[in-house]
Parts: sequence; C-alpha cells; structure tokens
Amino acid sequence: FVTLTICTMGELLVEFLSRDPQQKFTQPGEFVGPFPSGAPAIFAAQVAKLAHRAIIFGCVGSDDFGRLNIERLRHEGVITDGIHIIDNAVTGTAFVSYRTPQERDFVFNIPNSACGVFAAKHIDIELLHQCTHIHIMGSSLFSFRMIDAMRKAITVIKDAGGTVSFDPNIRKEMLNIPEMAQALDYLVEYTDIFLPSESELPFFARYKNQPAEEIISELLHSGVKHVAVKRAQQGASYYRLEKNTLQTLHIPGHKVNSVDPTGAGGCFGATFVSLFLAGFSAQKALQYANASGALAVMQQGPMEGISSISDIENLLRDQPRP
Ligand code: ATP
Ligand code: MG
Repeated sequence: FVTLTICTMGELLVEFLSRDPQQKFTQPGEFVGPFPSGAPAIFAAQVAKLAHRAIIFGCVGSDDFGRLNIERLRHEGVITDGIHIIDNAVTGTAFVSYRTPQERDFVFNIPNSACGVFAAKHIDIELLHQCTHIHIMGSSLFSFRMIDAMRKAITVIKDAGGTVSFDPNIRKEMLNIPEMAQALDYLVEYTDIFLPSESELPFFARYKNQPAEEIISELLHSGVKHVAVKRAQQGASYYRLEKNTLQTLHIPGHKVNSVDPTGAGGCFGATFVSLFLAGFSAQKALQYANASGALAVMQQGPMEGISSISDIENLLRDQPRP
C-alpha cells in the first residue's frame, strides 16, 4: 500500500441547509448549520479518511466559520498548513435549499469572501512539491486570481511528473462568471482523470446534442487518460482507450436512503483518484468510489458523509456490485 500526497485548491466554506425542502430564499425559514464545506475541502477530507496525505490550499477569514472549517479538516487528518487566515475578510458561505432531490438552489458568498483573496503568492511551494497529484473542482474557478494560482500549481505538479484530476462541478449559480467558462476548457487539456457528472458532459460537446459516448471518446483522444462519469442513484461508469477503441465499465448505484446529495461527487472523486493512483484496478476503484458516493448521500451535511475503507467495504459486502 503506497501513501500518496494529493493536493487540492479552492473554496473553504460553511454551509447552511434549509430544513424545509420547499424553502425559498425569498422568505424567512429555518436553516441548519454551519457545516464545514467547499467542494475541494470535502475532497481533501475524503482523501485523508482513506489514509492518504491530503493538502488543501485556500483562504478563510479570521472568524469562527474559518476556525470551524480548519479544525474539522485537521480532525479528519487533512494537512491545513496551506490554508491562509485573512484578517480583513469573512469566511465563505453557502445556503442550500432542495426543491427536489435532484434540484438545488444555492446562494453563494465565495468571490467576495476570504476565498476570493487567494492568489498564486499564497501557495506554499514546499508543500506543493510534496504532492504528486492535484485535484481541481470547477466550482473553484471563481476568480482570475484563483485560476492563475491553479495554472501555476498544475505546471509545478506536471513538471515533476505528477498527474491532474478535474471535476467540472458546475453550479448554475456560478456560470455567469466569465473566467469560469473559459477555464473549464483550459483545464481539460491538462487533465489525466476527468470526473464529470452525466449532466455536465454537454458543456464539453463540440456541437449541440452530441452523444455522450462521442464526447467522452473525443476527450480521450485529445489527451485525457481516464474518464469516470457520475450518475447519482444510477451509479457510475468508467472509460478509457485501449488500442484506440473505447473501453467501458458500468456499475449500478447502491440502494440507499438519500438525505443530502451535496458532497457525493467529491467523495466519489476522492475515493476513485486515491485508490486508483495507489494501485487499484479501474474497476475496483470505481466500485469503491460508487460505494463512497452512496454513503455520502445518507448523511446530512456536505462533509459528514466521508467514509473509511472499512465503511466502504461494509457496504460492498452488504450490497455487492460487479
Ligand atoms: P455533487 O456535485 O452534488 O457532490 P455530483 O453530481 O458530482 O454530486 P453524483 O452523481 O450526485 O455526483 O454522485 C456521485 C456518485 O455517488 C454517483 O456516481 C454514485 O456512485 C453515488 N451516488 C450519488 N447519489 C446516489 C444515490 N442516491 N444512491 C446511490 N448512489 C449515489
Ligand atoms: Mg459534483
């Protein structure tokens, strides 16, 4: 068993969840929280829970939300030395309401929070040199400064022979940020392991209504080496090219009680990436990631559903998947 050092970079938030699924943001209601959150933070916590070294680069404010987030990450085993505490800024927040299990509304305070201050100069280069892999979340492409920092980190990791994974993690509330849409394409060029949701594939199409398998095949021909597609309760699929032909694996989802889908994508991705890079076959890494995503939706709160190897293996024992 090899211990990897995997880093990620981006938003550190606290999240508040509406109690009532019909809650609109235009009327008062009850919210539960603060829960530690931020897509890269969830990813890092899940990597650490699988006993790999996880480093996160980002900023929080000098307030209790920031302290809550750092303390929780530390508790999960994440290396938090790459997190900067910004004195005159407030920690990022997200408010979430579920209209249906599939449809969520968010109110984000990210670019104007401490998260938005993060720039290349905040990257601790010694910490970065310890990493052989960097994971990027599309939700972190919220400022020019952050995108510039990512480019620099990717260059350092790639020059040292490391690899890159990318989860587009597109939030409709963030698509009007022009930097974000442009950086999505740029990032795919540097991606070794691509981890989109099925619904995000059309963003990477060359023409309208391009079939999903054709989009994936073109990405693989253009340099992406592995694609794992997330299909929520339907499970997940894996694609690669073998002698120029598309190889596919599908795994059906586990039957679980979904109480809060936020965070499933991050747990899935962190599990797939760390186990696959540690030497698991793509099939076994996909099985474990599929179980990790299912376990994540069973817990309320975005980071509450991270799983250890034995949590995952218990679910796989109860509900075997091919
Ligand atoms: P998010 O961005 O909200 O964290 P996502 O859209 O990136 O999520 P999902 O497809 O929702 O990712 O979930 C990731 C994986 O978790 C799925 O591919 C599947 O393996 C598992 N999963 C998610 N939801 C369920 C569910 N309701 N039942 C079983 N497994 C699930
Ligand atoms: Mg996602």
